[in-house]
Amino acid sequence: MAIERTFSIIKPDAVAKNIIGEIYSRFEKNGLKVIAAKMLHLSQEQAEGFYAEHKERGFFKDLVAFMVSGPVIMQVLEGENAVLKHREIMGATNPKEAVPGTIRADFADSIDENVVHGSDALATAEREIAYFFSNDELCPRTR
Ligand code: UDP
Repeated sequence: MAIERTFSIIKPDAVAKNIIGEIYSRFEKNGLKVIAAKMLHLSQEQAEGFYAEHKERGFFKDLVAFMVSGPVIMQVLEGENAVLKHREIMGATNPKEAVPGTIRADFADSIDENVVHGSDALATAEREIAYFFSNDELCPRTR
């Protein structure tokens, strides 16, 4: 299986719930390695740009308001089949539909405030990683 990189955000609701470590622990237990990470409070422009593909959707305004409501932690995860594996660990967008034991099933309150973001495909991952990280911020494991 291919070693892939994917992009992940621990959203403002999860940071507020103080479950950053719990979420990192799930990445690590599933063989995903953090190779870059940063905490920041997104600007309106950053959030709108990141979610530009949803611009015409009814939930866009609320989604952007939510994403700028507090700090987030973003990371690049590396591992075998990382894009799909990360999506599996996260669970479905709507926590009511998420498989028990997934991050969203266990911690998300609603489809709007659903704790985590993860790239949905390899090409998306490359674009999303580049949106927030420069190449010299990525730290592939050397040991
Ligand atoms: N979202 C929302 N209402 C909806 C659908 C999506 O607020 O009806 C938000 C939610 O935070 C979701 C994000 O928009 O995570 C992006 O939606 P997408 O369908 O790409 O889901 P994801 O890839 O995050 O599972």
